[in-house]
This record gives sequence, C-alpha cells and structure tokens, in this order.
Amino acid sequence: MKHSTLMMLPLIAILFSCNRSGQNPFFSEYETPFQTPPFQLIHEKHYMPAFKAGIRQHKAEIQAIANNPEAPTFVNTFVALEKSGELLTRVENVFYNLNSANTSDRLQKIAKDVAPLRAAHYDDILMNEKLFQRIKTLYDIRENLGLTVEQNKLLEKQYKDFVRGGANLDEEKKERLRQINEELSMLSLQFSENILAENNRFEMMIEDEGDLSGLPEDVVKAAAETAAERGHEGKWVFTIHKPSLIPFLQYSDRRHLREKMFMAYINKGNHNDDLDNKAILTKMAALRVERANLLGYPTHADYILEENMAKTPEQVYDFLNRIWTPALKVARQEARDLQAMIDGEGGDFTLEPWDWWYYSEKLRKAKYDLDDEMLRPYFQMENVRKGVFDLATRLYGIQFEKRTDIPVYHEDVTVYEVKEADGSHIGILYTDYFPRASKRGGAWMNEYRSQSRIDGVEKTPVVCNIGNFSKPTAEKPSLLSLDETLTLFHEFGHALHGLLSNCTYPSLSGTNVARDFVELPSQIMENWALEPEMLKIYATHYKTGEPIPDDLIKKIRQSNLFNQGFATVEYMAASFLDMDWHTLTSPEEPDAIQFENESMERIGLIPQIAVRYRSPYFLHIFAGGYSSGYYSYIWAEVLDKDAFQAFRETGLFNRETAQSFRENIISRGGTEDPMVLYKRFRGREPRIQPLLKGRGLI
Ligand SMILES: [Zn+2]
Repeated sequence: MKHSTLMMLPLIAILFSCNRSGQNPFFSEYETPFQTPPFQLIHEKHYMPAFKAGIRQHKAEIQAIANNPEAPTFVNTFVALEKSGELLTRVENVFYNLNSANTSDRLQKIAKDVAPLRAAHYDDILMNEKLFQRIKTLYDIRENLGLTVEQNKLLEKQYKDFVRGGANLDEEKKERLRQINEELSMLSLQFSENILAENNRFEMMIEDEGDLSGLPEDVVKAAAETAAERGHEGKWVFTIHKPSLIPFLQYSDRRHLREKMFMAYINKGNHNDDLDNKAILTKMAALRVERANLLGYPTHADYILEENMAKTPEQVYDFLNRIWTPALKVARQEARDLQAMIDGEGGDFTLEPWDWWYYSEKLRKAKYDLDDEMLRPYFQMENVRKGVFDLATRLYGIQFEKRTDIPVYHEDVTVYEVKEADGSHIGILYTDYFPRASKRGGAWMNEYRSQSRIDGVEKTPVVCNIGNFSKPTAEKPSLLSLDETLTLFHEFGHALHGLLSNCTYPSLSGTNVARDFVELPSQIMENWALEPEMLKIYATHYKTGEPIPDDLIKKIRQSNLFNQGFATVEYMAASFLDMDWHTLTSPEEPDAIQFENESMERIGLIPQIAVRYRSPYFLHIFAGGYSSGYYSYIWAEVLDKDAFQAFRETGLFNRETAQSFRENIISRGGTEDPMVLYKRFRGREPRIQPLLKGRGLI
C-alpha cells in the first residue's frame, strides 16, 4: 500500500501513449465544442480500460496526498482531493448516464464487472488512515485556518464523509464495511436490471377491436404502431411503460383488461422467478442496517437523515403524519365519489385500484368537462420545451441555442447551448424525452460535467434531461399529458440547478445538496406550468398555433384540486414504506410482501389505492439514492410552494425576485446550510400552509 508520488510516472506514461494512439477517447481531453463527450468515438470496449486506468490514476493521486511530507494544509489536502480522479470521473459520468438512458447487454455486464472495483476503490480512499489523519488534523483546528464559508463547508463535508465511510473503525469492522458496500452495489444493480427487463417483458396484445372500447384514437394508433414494431401487424400491443399504461387505465372500458394491465404493473419484480426482487431488497435493507449499526447509528434512516434538512426519522414521521391524516380523509371522500359514480351507472362492484384512473377521469369529465385528451393538443413536446426555455429567459435572462455540431448518443437527443443575456457561455443541455427499450423508466436530470472553478480554472456544466414521454406517431407529433408536461418543467428545474451553479468545488456545486433540498429548484418550476399567464405563452395548439382558450384554462384551474387526495395518499404511502424499510434496527430480512402489507396496514391505506411503488420495483430507494429520502418531494414542496409565494407577491416573472432566487439558492449548490440559503431568499423560514392549501388539504 505504500506508494510514493514517483509511482505515478509510469501510469502517466501509459495514459499518454494511449492518448497519442487515439484509441481511447477517455484518455485525453475531449476535442469537441465545450469538451462535451465525443459519443461517436466512444465504444463499449473503451469503458473497462478507462475505468481501470482511472482507478489506478486516482489511487496514485490519493497516495500522493496522503503521503505528502509537508504538513497538511487546506490546499494540499482538501483542494487536492477535489482535483483528483479526473479520468475516473470522466468515464463514470458518460458510462452511468448511458447505462440509464441507452443501455445494452454489454453495458450492463460492464456495470456489474466494475461495481466491485469501484466500491473497493472508494472504500480504500475513505478508509485510508494516513489521509484521514491529515483531514482530522485540519478539522480539529478548522476555526484557525481562516477559511471562507465555502471552504469550511468543504472541509466539514469531507471530514464527515470519511467518518461516515468508516475512517474511525477498527480493521475488522472496516473489512466488514467493505464487504457490505460491495454487496450493496451489486444488489442495487441487479434490482434495477430486473425492473428494466420486467418493463420490457410484459405485453398485452389485443386482437379483437371491441376490446379497444373507450380508448382515444391516438392511444389506439400508438398501440397499433407498437404491435407493428413487434411484428404483429393489424393488432394492438399495450405495455407497462407509462405512456402506454396510464391512458389504458384512464380510458379502457374493459374492466378485466384494466385489471390485467394494473396487476402486471404492480407485480413487477414479484413473480418468484429470475427477475424477482424480493430477496434482493430484503438483503439490501438488512445490509444497510448492519452498516448503520457498524457506524454507530441505530438505523439506516438515522445514518442518512443526519445529512438532510430533516435530521432524524422521528422528524420525518412527524412531518408525514401531519399531512397523511388530512390527505387520507380527502382520499376516502374521493373513493366515495367514485363508488357513487359506479353505483349510479348500475355497476355492481366495489371500486378497485385498477378502476381509480378510469372513474376519476370520468368524474373529472363530468364535473369540469375536462379530460387529459382535450389538453394534449396544447402540449406538444417541442412547445413545452420552448415554454420552459422562455420561462428561464424571462426569469434569468438566459438564452438557449440549438446546436447540431455537438455529438449525441441517440437520434432522439437534442443539444442546446445555454448562454447568459450577454451571450457568454453557461453550459450545455441535452434533452432526450422518448421511451425505448434501452432506457430505464421515469424521468431524471443528470450531469456529464459539474460546474467548478478551482484555481480559476472554469469548468462549465454539461447536463441532461431524460424522460419517457408520449412519442410522436406517424400522424401526430409528441403530445404530452398534463402530468408529462409538469414532469418536463420539473426536470428542467434540476437542469437549471446544475447549469446556473456558481461554485468553486465540484463536491459542493450544482445539485450536490441535501436530498430533501434538491427538489426545491425542480418543483418550483411546476408552479409556473399552470399559471394562466404562462399557459398563454407556451400552450399553443399543435395544428393551429392558437393559444389555449380561456375556458380551458379556467377548467384546468378549477380542477386543480381534483384527485389530490389520491395523489397525496399514493405518494405518501410510498414515503412511509421507504421509512419503514429503513428504520429496521437489526438485519432481519423479513418477508417483503408481508412487511409491506403490515406497513400499509399501520398507516391505514385504503384498499382502493395501491402504494405508488411497491417494494420490488421501488427503484428510488433500492437503486436510485433516495433510501430514507422518498419523503423529500413533499418536504421540498413545503419549500417550493412557500418560495413561489414570493413570485406571487412580486410578479410571476419578477426579475429581482428571480435574481434573488438565483443568487441565494440555485447558484449556491451545497456551499451553505440549506435553511440559511432559504432564509436569505425568503427572509424567514418556510411555512407549511401554502402546501396544504395547494393540495386542498385545509
Ligand atoms: Zn426531481
């Protein structure tokens, strides 16, 4: 383990030789506009050598920092750590983005091969005793170092990361921690792969046209196209990908087929076969609590939450309960309304979860003369995307220019250069909005390069927005549902958080903030989406270009609170389930389904509503970094609803309010405590009332 700085030399020589031969694009700076990834040059064979070289290089750098004969300083320790691992970060950023957005069997295989190597590598760093001693030495005298607020935050974060990574443990415990981390990294990958396969495995083929009853024309056409793609010309295929599933549940008159689709969706990863996730997730929960115990925390949630705004499990449960009780009351009333509709139609059955979408859509139509299909023509994807760009221009003066000279990894990807009002470069945004078999479900933002500015070297952000929105058909462009529209606004908010970052160190820049703070910049954008002034700007008919009519806007506004009991309860049930899995106090591996049922019984979830994600496909918490953090969305909604009030008070597009939001919150990354940042913007702590009011719960 004893390496000197000299040992870096042969390594560098290897890198340079690869560089000259031009074989592996990761081994040199990218020669593309703004040094974006040269996707056209990157092949699957390049990843593993780049990972291995990246790890070797990073190891050598870490050794050099740990063994530096000079006394530790902020610069030779913390700044040096921030600068280290450049090659590894470069390949990781491309690889993990593509493994989510455009994967293949080969990529999945590499992910599995590399997972234990990376887990061991990062453990090596966090458990490097010499390095930790340098960090601790500085941490103990931090008040005398004359650091800026940002530097101090970096020091504290790094120190904490090491302690949380096992730096204080004895050798035996360190070894066990390594095993746990390695095993968790593999299990999490397997969990995610199984769900990708499950999403693609199920299809429901309809051969009798009568079974299409109730479905809108566009939905039928999309199903016919899917069937044709799969070699079943003249038939219709529905899948459990959201753009196929949700309209089917909303509109199909065939109750038994709705049930079939719904059951297929909620039983993903639960078929007791090779794609089953139950044993994987219980093992993960057990390993997580074992790790927490090793590190001195009673539960995994305690371990995670100390880093969040909500510091303890008790605080999260208290918070959830405050909203759960009124939400459940509203949902019960909604269930009664739907049952009344069923009874009124002479339906001799009890409302079931696969009926909820169908009857709530019917009821919405009856009450407000509004349904999703009436709105879609006004939400053409391109118009919505232009809408969020316009909004950002109004708020922050920034500009978006489409670029065709920047490489992409798939033809569905569009690239934009983002610029300040004066034309200076901010960063790059990729949008990639349509589902395909190689993309995992859901919508997300990620970074190919984080913004940073160490020693005056400016690194500009390269970010992406990925979605699984309704695709164009042969006759119509991509027309989004209202929900998809809100999701596009949401992810764009995350993109802005990455793009408008103005920080020094990459570990604290952009979206590197507390998990329950990160949804503020995204969710606040959703507030604009349905404001009449905003709708008039972007919601124009895809054929005529006419802005959405006032009466339709009125209907959207009036129906705003419709079905909110359901939406809140469905989401919050998943938040409780997440917390329950992660407040186990010992590694017991209970039966997954029984555990889930008991968890749902405890909160009194009504049988007409299924938890938003059942455990076997709860990717957020078993494969997505939201363990003990799924509550974050509604926690951040307290912040976003309260923050949006500031715009209501000063004007929807008020530049000064926007500037303050940019300066105090979205440009600041994790450089200060989130509550301090928030109060600087709002002048006080957030209030919960706007959230409760916004969801019709008070
Ligand atoms: Zn989000």
